[in-house]
Amino acid sequence: MFEKILIANRGEIALRVVRACREMGIQSVAVHSTSDVDAMHVRMADESICIGPPTGAQSYLSIPAIVSACEITGAQAVHPGYGFLSENAKFAQILEDHELKFIGPTADHIRLMGDKITAKDTMKGLGVPCVPGSEGGVDTLDEAISIGKQIGYPVIVKATAGGGGRGMKLAKSTSEMESAFHTARSEAKAAFGNDEVYVEKYLGKPRHIEIQIFGDGKGKAVHLGERDCSLQRRHQKVLEEAPGPAIDEKTRARIGKTCADAVARINYAGAGTVEFLYEDGEFYFIEMNTRLQVEHPVTEAIYGVDLVREQIRVAAGEPISFSQKSLQIDGHSIEIRINAEKLPAFSPSPGRITQYHAPGGLGVRMDSAIYDGYSIPPHYDSLIGKLIVHGRDRPEALARLGRALSELIFDGIDTNVPLFDALLRESAIQSGNYNIHWLEKWLTKNFQ
Ligand code: ADP
Repeated sequence: MFEKILIANRGEIALRVVRACREMGIQSVAVHSTSDVDAMHVRMADESICIGPPTGAQSYLSIPAIVSACEITGAQAVHPGYGFLSENAKFAQILEDHELKFIGPTADHIRLMGDKITAKDTMKGLGVPCVPGSEGGVDTLDEAISIGKQIGYPVIVKATAGGGGRGMKLAKSTSEMESAFHTARSEAKAAFGNDEVYVEKYLGKPRHIEIQIFGDGKGKAVHLGERDCSLQRRHQKVLEEAPGPAIDEKTRARIGKTCADAVARINYAGAGTVEFLYEDGEFYFIEMNTRLQVEHPVTEAIYGVDLVREQIRVAAGEPISFSQKSLQIDGHSIEIRINAEKLPAFSPSPGRITQYHAPGGLGVRMDSAIYDGYSIPPHYDSLIGKLIVHGRDRPEALARLGRALSELIFDGIDTNVPLFDALLRESAIQSGNYNIHWLEKWLTKNFQ
């Protein structure tokens, strides 16, 4: 087992990894930018080291700074968290070249899944059902139009290098294709430095269902069921739950096995998430994330496993500590993503938190790196905490979420908490009957 792990991240996820390390008796090293010197992950880790100025590009994304930090501190492995360098194949490769262990899959697997066209091709070949669409990239508008005719409108033009819901444009007819094609390409170029796009059938009322898988890197893999992440704004997840209200045991076992078998065949190592759209009883693969997800705690809650601990074990060459058979679902879990945002525009709202009180009690977990008097820097993502509840069933989890929200205090800044208070009063949320378009429609009606 490793003696020392460096965490190449910040905020709640860095703290999450520090906690797992401490329970495993492993020393943790926090890295930080100059603006994060007082951050909670820095205070909680066993050691810390400054890696550069505030902007992400000069600090948390700086590969030379992070490799140097490993050398200076003597860390043997790096946990990348999510975001930043977590899906950067070059980073994984450079660590390997420096005999440092990247806690995640191999650089080759990251590369394979990082390009969405290759990912789709690979998954199709491994027996995973995919969204109908173009075979590979689409280079010209004429080609895009002819594919639109072939698969039928509406279609969605998506960036091959996409992520975070960017570089995605809907075309309802041939006449809308020109603008969708060019806008998706230019957005993709600006966001990812790669303007390749592909075309997919646009699904009108799907749910976003993702399967958590775990591979040992030696041909064995298990699945930990699904998460339903259908509540989205601008293709970004807002609330996640497990198990999915629309998924029964048989369906879970079938799609879970398909995913576990697929990643086992490529000797995948560590945590991964296979994302699908689910409509009329059919699954359509959209992408695979080769890292820990923001929403991993809902899976941890219902299966009672520590996914970060498992990631570290597998990276150290140890076997996965559970088998498919031993995994049993216990109850229901819901996570909400709390952002420092001003409603109704959802504009970033950095600033000083004058008072913070976290909810507690049975079945409540608050993953946050916030504290009284903390100043949220303007340079990073607006996520300031994840509130995760666990109950014996969905109604109990929902009631617990409402109760926990009533205890939560964030003074001094604006947050999106009022959105969740309002959502909990909606019958669609109470019944679990919503798809990926539900929230956008609801916001247009209720929040503008
Ligand atoms: P990203 O990597 O940017 O997150 P994804 O491919 O995972 O992109 O898609 C993000 C979200 O965009 C999905 O959860 C869904 O809401 C929407 N989306 C993606 N593909 C389609 C599609 N073919 N039809 C309808 N919605 C889609």
